[in-house]
Amino acid sequence: MASSELIAKAAATHDLGRDELIALLEDESCNETLFAAADDTRRRYVGEGIHLRALIEFSNICRNNCCYCGLRRDNQNMIRYRMKTDEIIALAEYAARNRGFKTVVLQAGEDLFFTVDKMCEIIRGIKQFDVALTLSIGEKSAAEYQAYRAAGADRFLLRIETTDRNLYHRLDPGMSWQNRRQCLADIAAAGLETGSGVMVGLPGQTIASLADDILFFKEINADMIGIGPFIPHPDTPLKNTTGGTLEMSLKVMALTRLLLPDINIPATTAMETLAPNGQTKALQAGANVIMPNITLAQYRQHYELYPGKSETNCAADETLQILQDKITAIGRYIAADKGFRHKKSGKVFRL
Ligand code: SAM
Ligand code: SF4
Repeated sequence: MASSELIAKAAATHDLGRDELIALLEDESCNETLFAAADDTRRRYVGEGIHLRALIEFSNICRNNCCYCGLRRDNQNMIRYRMKTDEIIALAEYAARNRGFKTVVLQAGEDLFFTVDKMCEIIRGIKQFDVALTLSIGEKSAAEYQAYRAAGADRFLLRIETTDRNLYHRLDPGMSWQNRRQCLADIAAAGLETGSGVMVGLPGQTIASLADDILFFKEINADMIGIGPFIPHPDTPLKNTTGGTLEMSLKVMALTRLLLPDINIPATTAMETLAPNGQTKALQAGANVIMPNITLAQYRQHYELYPGKSETNCAADETLQILQDKITAIGRYIAADKGFRHKKSGKVFRL
């Protein structure tokens, strides 16, 4: 089948097989048609509103050693920080009350200082401000995910990073792909909206494995999927690798929109870091979420997953105005609701 026919089929049925996905990922001549179809599907299923989620990076201390990430524990060249409970809650209050954000996202390395009790205290503190709350703090036990939900957390982001298990085990020493997958099942079972995603352009990653990634998102019926290019960090073992491209990241994202039409998909910071118009391109190729970073500069500069990140997507007043202008310029608007997924498809994910 020609690429244009495959794209039309995906837009009509939200279903493609592995070989069909591979064919589209390999065909560079179909990119614009693919992006337009994903944009149209986004419009039909989730509308023109863009959900802004205020991102707080509250600790860059991590017990893990992921080869791609600047926060890995063996990176001695990083100044480590940990925000205090009241600082985190005060920043979330500012985001909600002064800046009108409807969702706060708390992200960190896997920092064991933040026990389940400490996290629940923070969650309860933030939930006073009538916002949705997303956590992105790594692998936890089923009981911990349940405790976060009981304290009021609404969503949890845990990227699977890649569905190629051998590649995952090479890049994430000491970690288990099976456990990460189990965590995603536990998150869903706890009643949290479940977010996942991958990096595009990891060394050794194949087109076929990217197709598998997209099918995996469908298999787990994810509520949110974040896709970004891998950007090499100079203080990691992957410093001499090439990294991913914006174009391929947009293609994986667009195909994800076609197969999971009603989910939330961010225009990721890594896309904007690779190209100044990366975010706008993503918003016109299937994305409907932006996560402005409201972490104070004194901390944000040290949350360096990859070079160039800290200058991107920060939520200073003037930056937010530029963002508002970008959104208006492409005929979209900032959504006024909390931006939960309104399920129009799918089943419950259980392992
Ligand atoms: N520690 C938690 C975890 O791993 O789930 C949350 C924070 S972690 C820094 C958030 C995401 O950053 C990871 O899931 C990974 O996909 C992404 N990331 C890390 N290093 C990256 C890099 N060099 N380029 C692009 N994305 C990267
Ligand atoms: Fe830690 Fe997450 Fe970075 Fe891995 S990706 S080193 S778990 S912060």
